[in-house]
Amino acid sequence: EKWKYAPAPEDNKYIKIAPRHELFIDGKFVAPSTGKYFESLNPATEEKLTEIALAGEQDVDLAVKAARRAYDKTWGKMTGRERGKYLYRIARIIQEKSRELAILETMDGGKTIKESRDVDLPLVAAHFFYHAGWADKLQYAFPGRNAQSLGVVGQIIPWNFPLLMAAWKIAPALACGNTVVLKPAETTSITAMRLAEIFQEAGLPEGVVNIVTGAGQTGAAIAAHADIDKLAFTGSTEVGKMIAKSVAGTRKKLTLELGGKAANIIFDDAPIDQAIEGIISGIYFNQGHVCCAGSRLLVQEGVFPTVIKKLRDRIQTLRVGNPLDKNTDIGAINSKPQLEKIRELVESGVAEGAELVQPKCELPAKGYWYPPSFLTGVTASHRVAQEEIFGPVLSVMTFRTPEEAVERANNTPYGLSAGVWTDKGSKIFKIVNKLRAGVVWANTYNKFDPTSPFGGYKESGFGREGGLQGLAAYTRLS
Ligand code: NAD
Repeated sequence: EKWKYAPAPEDNKYIKIAPRHELFIDGKFVAPSTGKYFESLNPATEEKLTEIALAGEQDVDLAVKAARRAYDKTWGKMTGRERGKYLYRIARIIQEKSRELAILETMDGGKTIKESRDVDLPLVAAHFFYHAGWADKLQYAFPGRNAQSLGVVGQIIPWNFPLLMAAWKIAPALACGNTVVLKPAETTSITAMRLAEIFQEAGLPEGVVNIVTGAGQTGAAIAAHADIDKLAFTGSTEVGKMIAKSVAGTRKKLTLELGGKAANIIFDDAPIDQAIEGIISGIYFNQGHVCCAGSRLLVQEGVFPTVIKKLRDRIQTLRVGNPLDKNTDIGAINSKPQLEKIRELVESGVAEGAELVQPKCELPAKGYWYPPSFLTGVTASHRVAQEEIFGPVLSVMTFRTPEEAVERANNTPYGLSAGVWTDKGSKIFKIVNKLRAGVVWANTYNKFDPTSPFGGYKESGFGREGGLQGLAAYTRLS
């Protein structure tokens, strides 16, 4: 089979994508016991990029065994300082290869190159650097307590931030002395396999990180494996609930990072132009494929007409199309089923009485696309006010008083994040403590940093990733 070449914007270099990607077990790339492979498409062109190995139960078992051996023989015995050296090395190689990784991330997942290059990749490297720094300082992270590693960790991640979610999972696990079996999402496995190559290049001992590819069944095999000490899952609430049931009563520690339906609350006294940019980033960043997307806009009645007018004007200026073009604002929807889900939910919103505002834009003939849109006249009982659309569609509602804003913001099964826009600091402090959300941004949105813990309340899951709380999730504190 031929290799595919992707043009790298700006520097005219070409990036190779192998026709096939095998599993990464015990430091080697190996064929799956199933003998099966599945296709990974570029969602912007519907072109096949490569074939990805389908891992079965037997492969998951080999991966867990390799991780256990590495835990017992190498990684689990190393000093924190040695572990830190590997993590620093990995972080530096990621930085060196970040251009190539950003392009692959964009081709495989559909997100714009602007975001892969300026947001995802810098954060991926930052996560490895941050956790490298902690590896030999765990006694200071938890003063007076003994932080022991847990053992073998199973990690299952979604497709919206493929490399970043891998970094969120792998870096803290390794810093704390655990070994890993990770499964990327089935539509976005290519960059995880590049990460495996980086681990080899960094000389990471065999079996410390194992990467098995496949869909839900492969994930379920990890969750069900008896020799896993901790399971970290990021994905939908529906699957998170199934996983929680499957590990109940076992020795496995569990953290769940699930869905969201965040409220972005804009008060009459907000700096409106700044807020409009925050709303735009809140919902259209990464095509709205963001668990903490500001997908519900709560507008105080006094500024409603102004906000709607400005939003309507602003979305006309967003460029939808080729994600490899650095001027593109909105890339491709990650997969056909996701596009269908977005369409179905928007149709339900219109059927329930909401009005759809959608600019006319020319969409490429091939690929999966959805224009930036918003729905007005949404009420709390509409599906589009309660369910995660996970696409570039904002549900707009109004409120009169701060109490009403809090009540509406909290009125979903989720509780991952929220945003507040106001000129009054006192209002921010009053409202923030009443919002049932793991992260609340004030006069900004979508700001991430490895030092800040991230995670949910209610059906958005439990446990935190990032910061000290994230480290605690990968240790046994005595
Ligand atoms: P998903 O739940 O369908 O899949 C997530 C991962 O779980 C994938 O790797 C998938 O293959 C695997 N999986 C599917 N069925 C499984 C099963 N029965 N057992 C074990 N593993 C299984 O979610 P998705 O569509 O890939 O991702 C979107 C969801 O992820 C959204 O709901 C989003 O909000 C959520 N998300 C949450 C966070 C967070 O930090 N809270 C971050 C990113 C995404």
